[in-house]
Formats: sequence, structure tokens, C-alpha cells
Amino acid sequence: RRTPLIAGNWKMNLDHLQAVATVQKLHWTLKDAGHEGDSVEVAVFPPFTDIRSVQTLIDADKIPFALGAQDLSAHDSGAYTGEVSGAFLSKLNVGYVIIGHSERREYHREDDAVVNAKVKAALKHGLVPVICVGETAEDLEKFGASAVPAGQLEKALEGVPASADIVVAYEPVWAIGSGQAATPAQAQDVCAALRGVLAKVLDEDAAARTRVLYGGSVKSGNIASFMREPDVDGALVGGASLVVDEFAAIVRFQK
Ligand code: 13P
Repeated sequence: RRTPLIAGNWKMNLDHLQAVATVQKLHWTLKDAGHEGDSVEVAVFPPFTDIRSVQTLIDADKIPFALGAQDLSAHDSGAYTGEVSGAFLSKLNVGYVIIGHSERREYHREDDAVVNAKVKAALKHGLVPVICVGETAEDLEKFGASAVPAGQLEKALEGVPASADIVVAYEPVWAIGSGQAATPAQAQDVCAALRGVLAKVLDEDAAARTRVLYGGSVKSGNIASFMREPDVDGALVGGASLVVDEFAAIVRFQK
């Protein structure tokens, strides 16, 4: 079975001092609860300005969390004011990078071509892209749940080799920050469809090994019901990842 991944996308929250305090507290909370690090992988995605501090803490205290960034540039270096290269991220032991989050698609007009270029940039620099896809409420009404996310994933994967190490996150836009999560059955249907896209565009082995996460109003009270679904391999958690006890309870969904 694929190792579950519980990923905390902090979005634009927590400065570097708060980040260090939060990661320390999360580590001790999980340790005190007797959480075994290898049963569930934990990843945190702080803002860029926090990453160096969190990396230093993780290294010094041997904290078993993966570190991720929330975005990267499609370019390696050069005259791109305000952008951050994947090369810089991998030097800080960043392992994951979120690409194509609906907030970037909406507020920064990132389209499927930009998402595809960023996926390739991440892979080039040894980062695992967490490719986010999801339909709006309007898409859901017009096309059903899986058509839009499946199309987004297909375009994100154009020209990506079948051997690539990636993560997919299904985040229905209407479920993000709304308190209205998808039902486990809805999440299962779309995650299974996305696994079908992986099989078609990459290959069967990629479909079998790649983790597909659900995201959108995940809480300690609903995580177990998602994790019971065969094609849901974890969660991408926004708001609830900012509250240590709540996020720790999500990580400990088996308890
Ligand atoms: P919420 O968990 O706050 O709904 O956010 C989900 C999300 O966008 C994670 O990337």
C-alpha cells in the first residue's frame, strides 16, 4: 500500500518565527502521542521566507517531516523579479513543491501550460511536484466532478516521463476553505479517475505507485472517512494545518 501523505499547506500564514514554533510543537505533540514517523509521511509547506528556518530546525532536531514549497518558477535563473528557482529550493532540502493550486490559477492566472512548465522545472531540480487539480462549483454543475480535474492533470503531465516521482492532489475549488468538504464517495470517484489518467498518460506502474491526495476542508473529524477510500492516499490540508493539535490529530487518523 502507498504510504499515506498528510501535507499542510500553510498558504500565506505564519512568519518564520511562528513557523519554527509551530513545527517544534507539532513534532513534540506527535512524539508525545507515540506517533510512528514511518506509518504516515508528514509534510509542511511554509511560505518561502520561512523555509530556511524550518530546514535548519528539521536538520538540527532530526524532525521526520518533509519540507515543501508552495510554488516555484518555471525558469532556472535570470531576470524574473520576485520568482524563486527550483534550484534554490532543492539546495534547502525542499522535497516537494505545490504546483497549480487553484489560488494560483485564479489570482495569478496560471494556466495549464504554466502548470506543465512548472512541473517540468520541479522534476529537473529533483523536487516532487504536488500537482493540484479541481473543478469549480460551476464546472461541477456543467461537466460533473471528474472531467475538469482529469483534463487539468492530463495537460500538467504532457511530456513528463512515466518514471517521474509526482503527487496529485484533488482539490475541488468549492470545498477549499468553505467548511463544505466533498463526501468520501465523491473524493474516491475523482481520485480513481485521476489514477486512470496516470495510467493512460504515464503507465500502470505510475498509476499504482503515485499518491493521490484529497484537499478541501479536511479536518480531524472527517480525515478517517477519506482515508478509508482505496484511491485516496492522503490529504492536502489548508486551514486545519495551522492549528497544531488539529493537524496532529489529522496525521493520527488511524487512531
Ligand atoms: P482548506 O483545508 O483550508 O479547505 O484548504 C485546502 C487547500 O487549499 C489546501 O491546499
